[in-house]
Amino acid sequence: MGGGPAGMMAGYLLARAGVQVAVLEKHADFNRDFRGDTIHPSTLELMHELGLLDEFLKQPHQELRGLRAVVNGQVVPVADFTKLPTRCKFIAFMPQWDFLNFLSSHAKRFPAFQLRMETEVVDLLMESSRVIGVRAKTPRGELEVHSDLVIGADGRHSTAQTRAGLEQLQFGVPIDVLWMRISKKQGDPKQTLGFFQHGKLLVLLDRDDYWQCGFVIAKGQFDEIKERGLAQFQNDIVSFAEFLRDRVAELDDWSKIKLLTVQVNRLREWYCEGLLCIGDSAHAMSPAGGVGINLAIQDAVATANLLAEKLQRGPVQVDDLRTVQARREWPTRLIQGMQIFIHRRVVTGRSSNEKQASLPFVLRLLKWFPILRQLPARFIGLGPRPEHIRSPTAA
Ligand SMILES: Cc1cc2nc3c(=O)[nH]c(=O)nc-3n(C[C@H](O)[C@H](O)[C@H](O)COP(=O)(O)OP(=O)(O)OC[C@H]3O[C@@H](n4cnc5c(N)ncnc54)[C@H](O)[C@@H]3O)c2cc1C
Repeated sequence: MGGGPAGMMAGYLLARAGVQVAVLEKHADFNRDFRGDTIHPSTLELMHELGLLDEFLKQPHQELRGLRAVVNGQVVPVADFTKLPTRCKFIAFMPQWDFLNFLSSHAKRFPAFQLRMETEVVDLLMESSRVIGVRAKTPRGELEVHSDLVIGADGRHSTAQTRAGLEQLQFGVPIDVLWMRISKKQGDPKQTLGFFQHGKLLVLLDRDDYWQCGFVIAKGQFDEIKERGLAQFQNDIVSFAEFLRDRVAELDDWSKIKLLTVQVNRLREWYCEGLLCIGDSAHAMSPAGGVGINLAIQDAVATANLLAEKLQRGPVQVDDLRTVQARREWPTRLIQGMQIFIHRRVVTGRSSNEKQASLPFVLRLLKWFPILRQLPARFIGLGPRPEHIRSPTAA
């Protein structure tokens, strides 16, 4: 359940292996703009392994070979992807709806694949303590779907994990994100940009004719920002990106500025009999580092690698589901640990005025020693324990 990166990739791979799959997605389309746009080198490698890479790269996208941040006015190269041991030595920026449409159009070629849009799972069907399917709402009425395994890939507000009563560990997150659009003009900088300043951050994602802006604020600070007024908020944006001065007035109403609450959490156990949670449903990710989509896809690949053959024969057991968590838990812990570090030290770090004007030591090292930029590149571009396609194709 859930047609995000985790659900769609798991659906694709299991259907490819000949396992009957129904992906249930509550929305009518994939067009939501708060999901991030990053397709990492490790995901591009998976597309190559699936024989889809050439066609995939024909979709409109941008290629980012290095990450630069503007920190307190100074440009700092943070990551260099050009030395990665992958076919694509770049992050592809592609709106997530294009990525999901691409994957679903290919999945539909497998006879075992079904995608049901506007199908919102509202409950799990139980037999004793085993999940045996889901109950969903559709515009045409209620629907029951029975299955050998329910994969909860329904994101950070997961119905699957709450209905199953799976225990969740919450990690404090000191940030939220304000999300808004500002138009693009000729002559604007070409690459997707992150601007750090005095412990604050503005991210600009290039969406062809507009900038998708993410402005990181301290958690709970939105009311205070509103009280200071729109003019002050517009000034704040311009203080990060001067080139937006001539159009920041487009933000003339608070309704154009959405508050996205950031969460980082993880289930103690990602499964129970008949149900496995993956992606944000098992571990909600912060946008920090832009790695949540990649991690969700890696979970899906591991799920298919470990379970596809067994599912070809019928239901799987709790011990089988445990192997998926065992494989994916430590990469998740490591990345979440890094995100929590970034929230505390980089994004909301408080320091003296003098320190604020200078570069943090780690960033100075990255500036002085280019070879060090390969470390963040590996962490962001590949992630710990990158997965490869091992699941079978249908006979
Ligand atoms: C503001 C913000 C920006 C981000 N930016 C980035 C970025 O640039 N790069 C990056 O890698 N990560 C980013 N992330 C993290 C990333 O969005 C997630 O980690 C990733 O989308 C997780 O994928 P998923 O498939 O597990 O879940 P989701 O992408 O959340 O997909 C879940 C799907 O399930 C559907 N669904 C939900 N409930 C139900 C239901 N009951 N029945 C049926 N369907 C249901 C939803 O509609 C959705 O389509 C960002 C996160 C935030 C909050």
